[in-house]
Amino acid sequence: RDRAQNYTFQTEVNRMMKLIINSLYRNKEIFLRELISNGSDALDKIRLLSLTDRNVLDTNPDLSVRIKAEPEKRLLHIIDSGIGMTRNELINNLGTIAKSGTADFLSKMQDTEKGPQEMNDMIGQFGVGFYSAFLVADRVTVASKHNEDVQHIWESDANAFSVAVDPRGDTLRRGTHITLHIKEEAADYLQPDTIRALVKKYSQFINFPIHLWASRTETVEEPLDDSDSQDSDTDEDAQVEDAAEEKPETKKTEKTVWDWELMNDNKPIWTRKPSEVADEEYSQFYKSLTKDSSAPLSRAHFVAEGEVTFRALLFVPRVQPADSFNRYGTKTDHIKLYVRRVFITDEFNDLMPNYLAFIQGIVDSDDLPLNVSRETLQQHKLVKIIKKKLVRKALDMLKKIPDDEYDHFWKEYSTNIKLGVMEDPSNRSRLAKLLRFHSSQSDQMTFLADYVKRMKPNQHHIYYIAGSSRAEVEKSPFAERLVKRGYEVLYLTEAVDEYCLSSLPEYDGHKFQNIAKEIFDLEESEQQKERLEEQRKEFEPLTRWLGERLGAWVTRCAVSRRLARSPAALAATAFGWTGNMERLALSNAH
Ligand code: ADP
Ligand code: MG
Repeated sequence: RDRAQNYTFQTEVNRMMKLIINSLYRNKEIFLRELISNGSDALDKIRLLSLTDRNVLDTNPDLSVRIKAEPEKRLLHIIDSGIGMTRNELINNLGTIAKSGTADFLSKMQDTEKGPQEMNDMIGQFGVGFYSAFLVADRVTVASKHNEDVQHIWESDANAFSVAVDPRGDTLRRGTHITLHIKEEAADYLQPDTIRALVKKYSQFINFPIHLWASRTETVEEPLDDSDSQDSDTDEDAQVEDAAEEKPETKKTEKTVWDWELMNDNKPIWTRKPSEVADEEYSQFYKSLTKDSSAPLSRAHFVAEGEVTFRALLFVPRVQPADSFNRYGTKTDHIKLYVRRVFITDEFNDLMPNYLAFIQGIVDSDDLPLNVSRETLQQHKLVKIIKKKLVRKALDMLKKIPDDEYDHFWKEYSTNIKLGVMEDPSNRSRLAKLLRFHSSQSDQMTFLADYVKRMKPNQHHIYYIAGSSRAEVEKSPFAERLVKRGYEVLYLTEAVDEYCLSSLPEYDGHKFQNIAKEIFDLEESEQQKERLEEQRKEFEPLTRWLGERLGAWVTRCAVSRRLARSPAALAATAFGWTGNMERLALSNAH
């Protein structure tokens, strides 16, 4: 007989457990969501394996999560028939944290001042996982049976853990049975109503059935004592009697029946018709998908047809997910891939470009092959087509964000869109429609389309100037005459703005003109042009003298009509760097 071996937790696990206990004590209930989600992940894994090896399901064809409470003993059981864990997996998965970025995350949580809600959201999105069991349990026992090992028992009181061969044998056939020894103050989680409510709140969209061992009262009708119907055989006209037979007398009794009660509707929401899904259901689904606590800013639910058929459900979170810019590890998108309702992976990281990594959602295609490895699938030509369509649909979704939400969207995601303009030439014009800038027109930001609508009849270019603030560019001598003459100038005040517009050749047929550079056509009349020529001649000695004095500092000195109050300005050449670019380059170098 194998004796239990004792182990200590990895340091990160201890720190994570402390963090969980200290910051989530008011939100203990999430333990159930985490444990059900682990069960569901384990079921996804065995179902995925079964696509290439049917036999793996032989040990237990049922794929489900089952919950059973024993209030008298203060035990809560969560049982799944997923992939299970071998002895080594029990030690590694439940004794260490493999997730990349954990150390980073932990130090971030420790050394910053955050409100409880913000902490909650961050922890929630990072995924506290298995260890949240200790929010409600002082002891946790995990029995697990993997197809490739005998059943083992892992047990812990949160200080250390032990692992042993299960003396009862392979009772689970396959999967994992978690037993929580519920703390006295958490006894409420043993109540069926509490469990049902939590499953509804957090786990209703799990794609496997979740059952609760529960009792219900059934009223059964039982025939009364049948002794008085014995004489019917002696009736003279039995046939007539039969046809009009009176119901035998019955009595009603109440019976308590124990059975597995199904708690969720496990039909994936994206397979339903959009017209039949309520807003609230989408929000709930989004929350369970992302663990975000607020509703999404926007969504798109569609079926794409053509070269490849797939369904997708996409969401824009109100707040940029913390790992969108690869801050934790290497994740670069938030799209889950399903093939024919079977979860394949959320680690393709290639279904959205970097700049759209904030988009959360799922894609489900019938056209992709099921029985190939993930690597093969990733190379599949249809995946590229899916990606292309997803990006288009995502951009449509952003375009449809209503005006009253757009300010918020822009505050949160403007950098993503500007990076998109720079990184994604094939969608550049779609992205340009989402851009907004400050402008000399008003205090409101403007879309380029609205700028174009306001352009003067003889104006060909879209004018802009970049600087570090609105106040700075407003004072710029480059803008003064244009603005005075009624031309609108875009004020680019974010560091990325000037790079962004430099990579955008035009909008709606209009080229951009950086007014800190040489301007070639200021829509002058012939008369004005003549006048300028005269002035150039007249002041030639001055410009020549200035050119000589400034020497290598400038390319050339010229008389210009672009100033109103200022006597002189330093402009960049058409292909040179503006002062703003120089400033950015300098500040990046430091
Ligand atoms: P995460 O789910 O984010 O990986 P968890 O802390 O929830 O983190 O779980 C840690 C790991 O333990 C999982 O990745 C998985 O390998 C393993 N695990 C947890 N619960 C189960 C289970 N019910 N069945 C199989 N493996 C599990
Ligand atoms: Mg988990």
